[in-house]
Amino acid sequence: MNWLEKDQHYIMSTYQRLPIVVEKGEGNYLYDSEQNKYLDLFTGLAVNIVGHSHPYLLGKLKEQADQFLHISNMFINKPAVRLAERLIELSIPGKVFFANSGAEATEAAVKLVHKWGSSQETPKKGIAVLEKSFHGRTLGVIQLTRQPGIYQDFPAADYPVYEVEAENLEALEEVLKTNQPAAFLFEPILGSGGIQPVSPSFMEKAKALCEKYNVLFIVDEIQTGIGRTGTFFAYERADITPDVILFAKGIGGGLPLGGMIAGEHVQEVFHPGDHGTTFGPSPLSAAMGNAVLDVLYEQNELENGRERAEYLWSRLEDWKNESEGFVQEIRGLGMMIGVVLNADASFVKTLQERLLAKGFMFNITQQRIIRLLPPLTLERAEVDAFVETLAEEMNALKERSVQ
Ligand SMILES: *Cc1c(COP(=O)(O)O)cnc(C)c1O
Repeated sequence: MNWLEKDQHYIMSTYQRLPIVVEKGEGNYLYDSEQNKYLDLFTGLAVNIVGHSHPYLLGKLKEQADQFLHISNMFINKPAVRLAERLIELSIPGKVFFANSGAEATEAAVKLVHKWGSSQETPKKGIAVLEKSFHGRTLGVIQLTRQPGIYQDFPAADYPVYEVEAENLEALEEVLKTNQPAAFLFEPILGSGGIQPVSPSFMEKAKALCEKYNVLFIVDEIQTGIGRTGTFFAYERADITPDVILFAKGIGGGLPLGGMIAGEHVQEVFHPGDHGTTFGPSPLSAAMGNAVLDVLYEQNELENGRERAEYLWSRLEDWKNESEGFVQEIRGLGMMIGVVLNADASFVKTLQERLLAKGFMFNITQQRIIRLLPPLTLERAEVDAFVETLAEEMNALKERSVQ
């Protein structure tokens, strides 16, 4: 059996994989076992925010590995304390809980919401979320992920879940008023829901409603955070202070790391024994988290990335304008972009395969939306090569499907 066949034989089929055996990642590229090189425009699904095998990150990883790999939460974990301090400085006053993934970050928030809700004068229960949200796949949070193919076959949550249409303030107010949930949880840009940005004005008014009805306002920055949209967290473009912020994906620089930041009035909800996880966080992951922040701030990649994203947007907009309506919409923010084509799912899938054959990798979400999650390190020449190839292949495919 070759690797592809072995993969299919031994690994559960929970993902549709691209037929590529990756041998090496370096900078913005992945290399396969046949010496092909690919520009990676989805960065391990929003993880490798500054590219692959970043030498500075690897250096810091080695430094930590030489100290200790693991010590348990019985000790003070210096890289974790340092990272928590920096995350607080970059967001809201409060305290951090570290876990190992996005779903675990959401799980921690669900438990915090539960404890906080039960302690209110009029106890509150449940969580309101947006349609097409994605907050993780473990059993405790799967019902917060409102995508029909994902949650429906699994047991109901043992707390109420309310689904609200994005941008619909009336619907949100109705739920907050009548159902009295303990929290409202949302992504500032719905990621796997189709790269659908939530407007700053919705965020601000939703926050005001949460204050009015005593509901915790929680942003899931697991995909949007760590500089991906041009600011450290995507909620920053609205004038709001969240009660809780969830993070994961990009922060570990490629290692598993996630968690939540709980604002001052909810930072004491948990007491020893209420929650925990053996690896939360691995010192290696925490050291990588600090290294990612060094690269973003001391090496200026957050700002550089913002400029590089502007260039990518301008090239994509030009392409859209020349496409005679075939490119319907380009949406998102910074290095988180959804391209909606006037085409069906099989066209988009074929386009993905053709781009892959030319050395460009992107992801598809909601069957027909091209999802680009490029690294902040994407160079102009790479943008040019990608957009030109995309336009060529799209035109070639269009002609073929017309004939
Ligand atoms: C990926 C993602 C999660 C889940 O993270 P995992 O690490 O896969 O468990 C939760 N919320 C959002 C917005 C995500 O993009």
